[in-house]
Amino acid sequence: MPINRRELMSGAAIAAAASAMPLGFAAGTAKAAEMGKPAGVFSYKLGDMECLALNDGVANFPLPDGFVKNASTQEVGDALARALMDPATMSIPFTAIVVKTGGKTVLIDTGNGPKAGGTRGTLFSNLESAGIDRAAIDIVAISHFHPDHIGGLLDENDDVSFPNAELVIPEGEAAFWLDEANANAAPDGRKPNFALAKKNIGAYGDAVRHIGDGGEVIGGINTLAAYGHTPGHMAFRLSSGSKQMMVLSDTTNHPALFVRNPQWQVRFDMDGDMAAQTRVKMLDMVSADDMLVAGYHFPFPATGHIVKDGSGYQLALAAWQPQL
Ligand SMILES: [Zn+2]
Repeated sequence: MPINRRELMSGAAIAAAASAMPLGFAAGTAKAAEMGKPAGVFSYKLGDMECLALNDGVANFPLPDGFVKNASTQEVGDALARALMDPATMSIPFTAIVVKTGGKTVLIDTGNGPKAGGTRGTLFSNLESAGIDRAAIDIVAISHFHPDHIGGLLDENDDVSFPNAELVIPEGEAAFWLDEANANAAPDGRKPNFALAKKNIGAYGDAVRHIGDGGEVIGGINTLAAYGHTPGHMAFRLSSGSKQMMVLSDTTNHPALFVRNPQWQVRFDMDGDMAAQTRVKMLDMVSADDMLVAGYHFPFPATGHIVKDGSGYQLALAAWQPQL
């Protein structure tokens, strides 16, 4: 749609829009601003479910060679430029989700953790901005055991971050990452991930429940196997009344690369071929069903729709709407 110049120049319209900002949002922003961090909270309804996308920051780094296993650095840079991003820099956002349903509060994935620092690890301050006490979270569900998803299970003192929560983990992830023989056989670069999984999952002791493909986290939230990124990686299907949403987890990394080019394999995909097959199948399904999706590494609010486009797909991000 062409940009209407008169609309662009209408300062009065902008002022009117700003004054209509709901109090809850303004208060959350002010509180986060006191802490020196802008709020990254997006709330919306899915049927009777109340959902919140909560940003955990972003990782910025020079685009390394081999970032995509089966595309050249030049091709990857070109794809970033086509998305109006810096072709020499990779920026990977992180966004977790809270779902309030049936009187319970569920958190899906826990971010990098408060020790991550820098431009990462903002989930806890965003939970605070959203008025959610970590002690009030009933269930924490994990998609997979990479550090940006389980890092937040422990706080800055290495105590459990969610003291009253049941921890629901994919059985395939537990079987792989918590296996002593796998840990010993792992290449040096991957050993810290095994140690982190053992420590952070282990801290929850008896409060851990293993879940398989199609298992129920809580009524209305079911797992869907999305193997390849890691051996037991899970997506989550949310259903409330006639409304459905697919929490894609890491089925795709940054959409400018992997929604546009679903065959591309990010270096973090542990089984690249299987991850690509899963990605194509999943993107095909959610676009055919016109289903709302959430992507852990999508730009904020990390919520939207997937649209088929040629040999790939496009992400149409949700527009932020004030909750009046
Ligand atoms: Zn991730």
